[in-house]
Amino acid sequence: TPLDKIRNFSIIAHIDHGKSTLADRLIQRTGGLSDREMTAQVLDNMDIEKERGITIKAQTVRLDYKGHVLNLMDTPGHVDFAYEVSRSLAACEGALLVVDAAQGVEAQTLANVYQSIEHDHEIVPVINKIDLPAAEPEKVKKEIEDIIGLPADDAVLASAKSGIGIDEILDAIVARIPPPKGDADAPLKAMLVDSWYDPYLGVVILIRVIDGSIRKGQLIKFMNAGTTHLIDRVGCFRPKIELLPDLGPGEIGFITAQIKEITETRVGDTITDAKRPAAEALPGFKEVQPVVFCGLFPVDANDFEKLRDSIGKLRLNDASFSFEMETSAALGFGFRCGFLGLLHLEIIQERLTREYDLDLITTAPSVVYTIHLTHSKTEDARTIELHNPADMPDPNRIESIEEPWIEATIYVPDEYLGSILKLCQDRRGIQLDLTYVGGRAQLKYELPLNEVVFDFYDRLKSISRGYASFDYHQIGYREGDLVKMGILVNNEPVDALSMIVHRGTAEARGRGMCERLKDLIPRHLFKIPIQAAIGGKVIARETIAAMRKDVTAKCYGGDASRKRKLLDKQKEGKKRMREYGSVSIPQEAFIAALRMG
Ligand code: GDP
Ligand code: MG
Repeated sequence: TPLDKIRNFSIIAHIDHGKSTLADRLIQRTGGLSDREMTAQVLDNMDIEKERGITIKAQTVRLDYKGHVLNLMDTPGHVDFAYEVSRSLAACEGALLVVDAAQGVEAQTLANVYQSIEHDHEIVPVINKIDLPAAEPEKVKKEIEDIIGLPADDAVLASAKSGIGIDEILDAIVARIPPPKGDADAPLKAMLVDSWYDPYLGVVILIRVIDGSIRKGQLIKFMNAGTTHLIDRVGCFRPKIELLPDLGPGEIGFITAQIKEITETRVGDTITDAKRPAAEALPGFKEVQPVVFCGLFPVDANDFEKLRDSIGKLRLNDASFSFEMETSAALGFGFRCGFLGLLHLEIIQERLTREYDLDLITTAPSVVYTIHLTHSKTEDARTIELHNPADMPDPNRIESIEEPWIEATIYVPDEYLGSILKLCQDRRGIQLDLTYVGGRAQLKYELPLNEVVFDFYDRLKSISRGYASFDYHQIGYREGDLVKMGILVNNEPVDALSMIVHRGTAEARGRGMCERLKDLIPRHLFKIPIQAAIGGKVIARETIAAMRKDVTAKCYGGDASRKRKLLDKQKEGKKRMREYGSVSIPQEAFIAALRMG
C-alpha cells in the first residue's frame, strides 16, 4: 500500500464512553465482518476485559475505506500497562478521542490524551452518544477546549449505538490524520508492538513497519534480544486473519516465525533483516520488569500441580509476569509471582480462579527491595534483591535497605484536592508541583512504590469518586528506614501475612492488621492472641475471646440430621481454612486482611 493511502490510529476514551462500540461499528461499516458475525463486542474478547471494561491485550484491525487502508489499533488503558500503551501509540499517527455527550470529559481520559499528544498524534474529537436525551454536545465541545486544550469546533457528533456519524468519523480519519512516513528502500526496521500465543499459529507478533518491508521466508533479527528467526507468515486482521505477501513502510500487521516462547518477543524491540540490518534500533526500548511480587498458593494442597499447569498456560500469553516455586511453612507449596502492578496481579489471580477454577491464597503484595549486608562470604553477595518479605535477612546483618520510588502525576477536580493531598502525605509522598489545568489540579508527587502497591489507586478512586486520574513512572531506588513486620496468631508467625513497612508507619499498619484479623478469624474454644511484631518486639495486639459452647449445642434437643448437616458444613469450611497453632484461619480472612482498610 502506498504511504499516502495509509492511516494508523487508536481510540482513546474514558471507560464506558463507547470505545468498543465505536470500534465494532467501524469494522461493520467498512465490511470487515458480516452482520451475522458481529457479536456484541468484537474487540474485547476476554471475559475479564468485558466485565472490567478494560483492554488488556492490544489488538489491531485493518479497515478498507474509500481506497484507503485504515489500521485501528486498540490500546490497553491502565497505568500498569503504561509501556505497552506507549508502544501502541508510537505505532500510530493519530487518535480518535471519544467523549460521552452526556458525561463530558472525565479524568481518566486525560492521561491518555496527554500520552497521545506526546506522541505527536493528530487528535480527532468524537462526541459520542448524541442519541441520549441528556446529550449536551455543545457543552462537551467547550470542555474539550477548556480542559484538554484541543480545538473542538470540528468534533464529529456521533452515536456508535445508532450508527450516526460513522461515515463522518471515517472521512475525518482520512482527511485529518497524517499518513505515515517511511523509506521502502531502506533496510527493514519494524517495531514489535505486541505478541501473544495462539494454539494454532504459535507466537503471533504484531508489528508496525517503519522502513523497508517484511515478507514470508525472510530471515529477521530482533535487535535488542539478538535472536534471528525465519518468517513463515505475514498478514493482518480484519478482524479475521488474512495472509499477505508482505508488509511495507507504514503498515501494521502480524508475522509468525515458529517462535515457541513469548519471552523471546519483547514489546518495543526492533525487527530488522538479519542479512541487511538497520544501522540502529528504534529508540525507547525498555525491558519490562515485574515490580510487584506476591505468593500464590492453592487453598487445597492437592491443587498444586493444577496451579503449576495453569500458571504455565497464562504465562504463554504474558511475558511480563514471572513465577517461581515457593514453599511456605504455613501455606505449603505455591509460587512467587511478579507483576507489572496491582491490576495486573488481580487480572492474573482472577483468571486463575475463573478460567482454571482454582481457589487461591494470595500473600501481601511486595515490591523489590535492594538490601546491603554488612558482611558476606563474597563481595558480590553483599547486595541482594529481596522479592519476598519471608526471605528478609537477620536485621543485624543489614547495613541498609533501598526501596523503589515513583514520580506520580495526578489530575483531580478541585473539591477533592485536600483529601488527595492528605492521602499522598500519609503515604510518605514528597510534593513536587501543583498547578491548574482547566479547573483541575495537576499534582506531581514522589512516592515510595511500597506505599502505592497496596491500595493507593483504589483509595484515590474512592476519595475522588472516580474523577482522579493517575499515572506514574519509576525514578529509582532510595534508602529507607524499613523493617519486616510479622503477624503472630496464637503465638505462631503467619509468614503469609508478614510485610516490609516503613518504621514510621509500622505501628499504624500493625494495629490495623490486628484489628481486621480480630474480626475475620472466627472464635475458637480458646482465647487467641493476635500480635504484630518487629523482630521480637510486639507493636500491636488484639485478642479474640473464646467461644463459650460447642457449635452443635446450638441445636437444642436432638435433631440428629440437623446436627450432622452443621458438622458437614463445618467440614466443608475446614477445607478452605489454614491451621495456625491449632487456629483455623479462613481464606477470606487472608484476602480481607491484606486489603488495607
Ligand atoms: P468502552 O468502555 O469505552 O469500550 O465503552 P463501550 O463501547 O463498552 O460502551 C459502554 C456502554 O455505552 C455500553 O452499554 C454501550 O452500549 C453504550 N454506548 C456506546 N455507544 C453508545 C451510543 O452512541 N449511544 C448510547 N445510547 N449508548 C452507547
Ligand atoms: Mg471497551
